[in-house]
Amino acid sequence: MRAEPDVLVIGAGIVGLSIAYHLKERGASVIVLDRAGIGAGASGVQPGGVRQQWGTRVNCLLARESMDYFSNVRERLQMRVDPGFRACGYLFLAHSDGALAKLRANVRLQNSLGVASSIVTPDLAAELVPGLDAAGVAGGAWCSDDGYFDRPQSIVEAFGELADLQLDDARSIDDDGVVKLANGNEVQPGAVVIAAGVDTPRLLPELPIRAEARYLFFSEPIAERLLEPLVVSAELRFAAKQLGDGRLLASDLGAHGQPETDSESWRTTVRLAREALLPRLVYVALPHLVEGLYDVTPDHQAILGRVRDRVWVAAGFSGHGFMHAPAVGRILAEAVLDGDEDEALGILDPERFAEGRLVPEPQVV
Ligand SMILES: Cc1cc2nc3c(=O)[nH]c(=O)nc-3n(C[C@H](O)[C@H](O)[C@H](O)COP(=O)(O)OP(=O)(O)OC[C@H]3O[C@@H](n4cnc5c(N)ncnc54)[C@H](O)[C@@H]3O)c2cc1C
Repeated sequence: MRAEPDVLVIGAGIVGLSIAYHLKERGASVIVLDRAGIGAGASGVQPGGVRQQWGTRVNCLLARESMDYFSNVRERLQMRVDPGFRACGYLFLAHSDGALAKLRANVRLQNSLGVASSIVTPDLAAELVPGLDAAGVAGGAWCSDDGYFDRPQSIVEAFGELADLQLDDARSIDDDGVVKLANGNEVQPGAVVIAAGVDTPRLLPELPIRAEARYLFFSEPIAERLLEPLVVSAELRFAAKQLGDGRLLASDLGAHGQPETDSESWRTTVRLAREALLPRLVYVALPHLVEGLYDVTPDHQAILGRVRDRVWVAAGFSGHGFMHAPAVGRILAEAVLDGDEDEALGILDPERFAEGRLVPEPQVV
């Protein structure tokens, strides 16, 4: 490694890169270490969904701040490519009074924090989503500010271009923050931030992060616009969205098993949900199956904070790390350099599992 930096960030996914960016912005020297390159983990798979509809205060705040950052991300990161944010809206459907009551409670929380979401009737849901069959719908939660980046990878790459990247595998880190690299070298930067996604427990085995495979079905690009908002039905285990390039994206939210043996049953879930909710999509073929890994924690919330004297962690994003990365970058940078204790650090700290302070996020996809 070149001269030892103030901070070594392990992991060049969107989270590590955002942390490095915010550290550099505050004048620190930073090296980002990745064994495989920029966006080699989940950040290179995620399709760019960004929403503010959450069921916990901490996630609403992280999402709001990040959405604000994303609103002029092209200028901030001097991007040549327009990442193309489309505020298509997210509609969460309920098919029972119980599910609707939960959405209602989340919307109340969101509204109290400035998120412009609302509960919609089945008729309004059908107006928002042309082609939606609302017969079995009890209602929904809607936020028109939620949306998708057409080119989410361009944001990962733009953060990456501003980073000082070094390719190597971190094999271990000791209590004094000494990092052993696969090339045999040892480094001891001023501080280390581990943002290694699903592989974080290899360096910090005490953290309860497990890998959960997630699968996305894609169609070929379709010229006609068939589905504009993102539609989620937790009860039907279904989410779908037509991307900017025309491909339909759909998933069985409960898919588990192996693609070779189980993908037909996931396909059936997606087909049945389309028949029930979006009949106009039934004849769209979904030939492509893409796999990625969520780094999941017991409460489906990230782990943010100090784990040892000079060692910090930002991992376990449980499927929503892209959309929270800007706020997380600022929070970690201020904590590492200035000792600032953002509200999120007091809630999502690593000790919460041992101390029984879990913060279950109810509105996960
Ligand atoms: C199918 C799918 C869909 C998703 N959809 C969305 C979405 O719409 N919106 C959203 O916000 N989020 C979404 N997510 C979640 C999102 O992709 C992740 O939360 C986010 O990318 C996590 O970023 P990260 O930087 O923490 O981890 P990663 O992107 O996984 O990066 C970790 C990096 O660390 C490196 N690394 C690991 N161990 C070491 C080591 N020992 N030494 C050196 N390098 C190491 C890896 O090579 C990797 O590059 C989705 C995820 C999946 C899988």
